[in-house]
Amino acid sequence: MQTLRDISALHAQTAAWRQQGQSIALVPTMGNLHAGHLALMAAARAQADRVLATIFVNPIQFVAGEDFADYPRTEADDRRQLAEAGVDAVFMPTVTELFPAGQSRHTRVQVPDLDNVLCGASRPGHFTGVATIVTKLLNLTQPDVALFGEKDYQQLLVIRRLCTDLALPVRIVGLPTLREADGLALSSRNAYLSASERAIAPRLYEILTALATQLAADAEILTDESLTMLEAEACKQLASAGFQPDYVAIRHADDLRVPENGADRQNLRILAAAQLGRARLIDNVPVLLKHKP
Ligand code: AMP
Repeated sequence: MQTLRDISALHAQTAAWRQQGQSIALVPTMGNLHAGHLALMAAARAQADRVLATIFVNPIQFVAGEDFADYPRTEADDRRQLAEAGVDAVFMPTVTELFPAGQSRHTRVQVPDLDNVLCGASRPGHFTGVATIVTKLLNLTQPDVALFGEKDYQQLLVIRRLCTDLALPVRIVGLPTLREADGLALSSRNAYLSASERAIAPRLYEILTALATQLAADAEILTDESLTMLEAEACKQLASAGFQPDYVAIRHADDLRVPENGADRQNLRILAAAQLGRARLIDNVPVLLKHKP
């Protein structure tokens, strides 16, 4: 596996692949890799001739006071795992390589409506930071396809939208969330959990799954007030379990709008964020409506 640290080495590698007529799949990450990331690498292998991973802890997607400095950086282990997964090359630039004029002077990509709700409301500027770095990585690497996890569902929608709006010639593939046996979504930030918090953490997925099951039966006939009450009830359950809930939201799966009555309720996603000790956990599940005769 090639390790590419600067833009010129990256361009030389992608140009060589292109010259040989090979297609490229891109998998952006912030490193500290786990089985969820590796599932993206495996899926990428099936999508293109070459798999290019990136590892970059992107400073502009961390809000002031967040864990940018502490975010786990495990380069040697990450490179070993990527090589074993059959990744062809990893691009791991420094912050100054990608922001030579400084972070504050860099052009930003904003995605209206999607970037300021749910996690965007609690983490102002976060999705602008994500949209900016993903646009830059797509421009730098010019992949045929790029893969992202549904674990970060709002992020996936932001990326789909920016690619459509900016007419970027890339196919975006979203992959289901990989979970521990007890349901907890794999995440680098799970390392922040103490043993007792780790025991509580799967409750997040359990509470969302129970809500999804309830909605599968009657989402189309519930009033707006009932949906709001169900969200509040799920927040209460999280609080009793020991979380500090940020939000539980029942939204349209396409664009996170608050769903109207009736047909608009046919494609829903439940999203949640909650603090547990030092870790801000996020998760989401689809609502699979039971088809009525
Ligand atoms: P990160 O390194 O956290 O920025 O994540 C890099 C990519 O891996 C993103 O597209 C994430 O959505 C995806 N990812 C993170 N955790 C999981 C998981 N548990 N299952 C599937 N994909 C994941």
